Amino acid sequence: NPLLEIKHVKKYFEVDRHRSLKAVDDISFAIRPGETLGIVGESGCGKSTLGRTIMGLYEKTDGEIFFDGENVDQMDRDQRFQLHRKMQMIFQDPYASLNPRSTVLDLIAEPMDIHRTYNNQYERRERVEVLLEKVGLSRTYLNRYPHEFSGGQRQRIGIARALALDPDFIIADEPISALDVSVQAQVVVLLKKLQEEKGLTMMFIAHDLSMVKYISNRVGVMYLGHLIELTSSEVLYEHPLHPYTEALLSAIPIPDPDIEETRERILLKGDPPSPVNPPSGCVFRTRCPFAMEICAKETPMFQEVERGHFAACHLHQPKTEGPKVHNRNRG
Ligand code: SF4
Ligand code: MG
Repeated sequence: NPLLEIKHVKKYFEVDRHRSLKAVDDISFAIRPGETLGIVGESGCGKSTLGRTIMGLYEKTDGEIFFDGENVDQMDRDQRFQLHRKMQMIFQDPYASLNPRSTVLDLIAEPMDIHRTYNNQYERRERVEVLLEKVGLSRTYLNRYPHEFSGGQRQRIGIARALALDPDFIIADEPISALDVSVQAQVVVLLKKLQEEKGLTMMFIAHDLSMVKYISNRVGVMYLGHLIELTSSEVLYEHPLHPYTEALLSAIPIPDPDIEETRERILLKGDPPSPVNPPSGCVFRTRCPFAMEICAKETPMFQEVERGHFAACHLHQPKTEGPKVHNRNRG
């Protein structure tokens, strides 16, 4: 059974009386316990809004969210409070998400204070020390302030804080985008290690495909508020179906000069259109090199094209099982 399942979730923001910004438009997927789902897309595609809507930080416009089989809309106050304990978020900008006037001790202990998960100050401090070690920081940092740390260290503090309540599910919203390239890999390695140790279920949001493959079991690609492709990381990188995913992948430089560049580069024209005024039919059609007449008229369904491989594109229809053709030359 999935730990998290979302069905037809929408989040629209009202722009004025007649128009709304369709930040998240009819997204459905499920995440199994212990699985990491990567969510990738350009900035403004709605991936952070999706994360915040799942977390309950934004009220959804439509759709259903199930956590551990329970519809979150049908939870009572106590269940909701418990849910906040089980779901935690790691934010993109560790500078902005940590109160500059709080010590490391208080920053990491704050979620524990809210949920009263310790019996005394000694226990509180002891737990924070253990969390610091878990994220690769020294126990001696307890009484220091955020400004005394580097970006990578601050993100480690943010991770320790997210782990303080021993959650089941973590949404990491571009946890490495604000960091130096040299520390990005370290933070991703740490997240993967913690995820494996604790059997955490994770949604890892990123704007490019390069780090996501390493950490994710499956990857979903978003464009203009829509989920346009979803499958295992291996299949997505080797055999993408959607032209937008192909374009994203062709933009990743191949690091080894001995490997011949077999992927044809697909350059996308222009910028994504405004989510206030999305194109008719396929949202990607204004930039798609393969757009056909039908693409302006009909919105492609997000459907399972191959086993476990979902895509929303008129070029890819599910392979229906026709009558089996027997080999007549079999002798
Ligand atoms: Fe391109 Fe049409 Fe597929 Fe959209 S549905 S991605 S426009 S081919
Ligand atoms: Mg974002």
